[in-house]
Amino acid sequence: MNRASTNPYPSPKPGSERHLFRLMQALEDALIFRRARSMSPCIDCHQAPDGNRCDDHATDLALITGYEQDLHDIQSAVAREVRHDREHQSRRAHCDG
Ligand SMILES: [Zn+2]
Repeated sequence: MNRASTNPYPSPKPGSERHLFRLMQALEDALIFRRARSMSPCIDCHQAPDGNRCDDHATDLALITGYEQDLHDIQSAVAREVRHDREHQSRRAHCDG
């Protein structure tokens, strides 16, 4: 059976707007997962010195920071692309009119 016909969410073309939106959705899902994990009670965190987190939860916090930065970068790229498209359409409308 054709894989594309069974997948309701076929992979968008890399770099396309749909691809970027899928990446943002995946990052938001990952952030929800990691934030929930990082807030769960943990005896290892209680035993860590100087108020630090255990290795697992320190990794969660590091990944959250990385995912937030990636999400911000993608959102900025999409905003730049939208601005560029609007400017292009505006210039074309001006030239055509
Ligand atoms: Zn912990």
